[in-house]
Amino acid sequence: MEMEKLVALCKRRGFLFPSSEIYGGLNGFWDYGPLGVELKRNIREAWWHDMVTSHNELEVPPGAPSAYAMVGLESTIIMHPQVWKCSGHYDLFCDLMVDCRESKRRYRYDQLYGRWVQCQGRRIFVATEAVGQEAEQDTLQKALRFFNLRSRDAEDLQWLGPVQPLSQVQDLQQVLGPDAKTLGTLTPPRMFNLMFETYVGPVQDEASRSFLRPETAQGIFVNFKNVLDSTRVKIPFGIAQIGKSFRNEITPRYFTFRSREFEQMEIEFFCHPSTSRAWYEYWRNRRFQWYVGLGLSSDRLRLREHSPEELSHYSCGTADIEYAFPFLPPGEFGELEGIAHRGDFDLRSHMEGKLVRQGDQFVVELDEEGKPRYRGSGRDLSYFDDETREKYIPHVVEPSAGADRAALAFLCEAYAEDEAPDEHGVPQKRVVLRLHPRLAPIKAAVFPLVKKDGMPEIARQIYAELKPHWNVFYDEKGAVGRRYRRQDEIGTPYCITVDGQTLQDGTVTIRDRDSLRQWRVHQKEIVAQLNELLA
Ligand code: ATP
Repeated sequence: MEMEKLVALCKRRGFLFPSSEIYGGLNGFWDYGPLGVELKRNIREAWWHDMVTSHNELEVPPGAPSAYAMVGLESTIIMHPQVWKCSGHYDLFCDLMVDCRESKRRYRYDQLYGRWVQCQGRRIFVATEAVGQEAEQDTLQKALRFFNLRSRDAEDLQWLGPVQPLSQVQDLQQVLGPDAKTLGTLTPPRMFNLMFETYVGPVQDEASRSFLRPETAQGIFVNFKNVLDSTRVKIPFGIAQIGKSFRNEITPRYFTFRSREFEQMEIEFFCHPSTSRAWYEYWRNRRFQWYVGLGLSSDRLRLREHSPEELSHYSCGTADIEYAFPFLPPGEFGELEGIAHRGDFDLRSHMEGKLVRQGDQFVVELDEEGKPRYRGSGRDLSYFDDETREKYIPHVVEPSAGADRAALAFLCEAYAEDEAPDEHGVPQKRVVLRLHPRLAPIKAAVFPLVKKDGMPEIARQIYAELKPHWNVFYDEKGAVGRRYRRQDEIGTPYCITVDGQTLQDGTVTIRDRDSLRQWRVHQKEIVAQLNELLA
């Protein structure tokens, strides 16, 4: 599937628009249109339903170490600045970036690659943001331009090795930046904190400096005690939250994949340290199956366990659920969700202060005077088990998903082009979004075959009957084949048509988007049928 086609469809049919588009857009920000908002709401609701409200805390789910409870939370986007100091984000939530003095563009250091080339007695490193085969093509074009050569003179270029990361290059003076015409315009890499800053209150000073949250998780940790004290949950239990997060990404790209404002769906699952590995495995598999159940095919979806070197400093195990997005080079996958075993790192940080690794332990980081660099809350965030009489700091397993990346993966997976017969039985090319019925923005469309003989009246009555149950759509304009195709293109699973026979026996046609099968049911049975079909 070519990504441009999906991007065009999203714009044309109202799934996604660039934010503030009439002013030229704002890089890294996207608006969901009338259909996109339904899709995203369905994703959020499927997640909340499957993880929280439909969860039965009295039964042990398949593969789980024991029964457990789930509750929800909605915390604020702006929190006490100390939260981010203790969590480590204030010091560590950074990417290395390089600036180009010539093009004025800024790049993520770890996303720049390139190749050494020799020509006309000079040896230079040609940098690019592209990867894989695209990187070879891109560097070739840039080298030709730099040495003032035509394509047919490409043999004059002597390549001195494969594509490699820019980080392996010592001397930036020999580097041709991705958008530069002259050598040595890239600055040395610098740390860049990804948190957006703001000021709370009328005075703009250090004391009022605050941050938009870069993840929803910290809101859960700081409310751990509140939830324990206000509900009767006992460990093991999870707290779930859906909400916006903000990261000032250096290079937002790939449509909504890397945005600066996005939505997360996170669970912090609190358990006894002795069972945390088993819970980690449970959540890893459970979350993978969730995507499979909603239609992501197993050959484009994978669960990748991090190697020990890749693990965050606090994690004893992390896995990513990844999808082979069509905009990535062949063989590359993009993260949809991370499932991390975080030990007691977060709760301890908010009790004691920012932690740093010392050998295989975490200790409170101290300043020059030997005082905690960032003081914790001083609150006791441990848990007391009144049956075993044991007091401990729970371990945490965190499945952290992105709603926008999920929406993008579902759209990519659903997009297909095939043929469907029109009203005369002649095959016509169509674009179809094979979205899972739970995710489809519109569940059914109701049409009168023609705009006469009382058909619109019956169709409108059916529409009115379905509307309280589902998001349905009524359309009487144009040839019915065209109306079917308009619904296929936005993923509507079923179309209901009132025709000549309806006037005689009260039956209507139901058409299935994917199989194109059509069958008749009595008007009175449509609600029951859709109930079954959409379950
Ligand atoms: P990446 O390595 O791709 O930047 P991450 O490992 O920093 O992602 P996490 O901090 O684990 O991401 O965030 C959890 C989830 O939030 C991700 O799996 C992703 O679905 C989503 N997410 C993170 N950053 C972004 C972003 N800039 N735009 C959209 N979604 C994002």
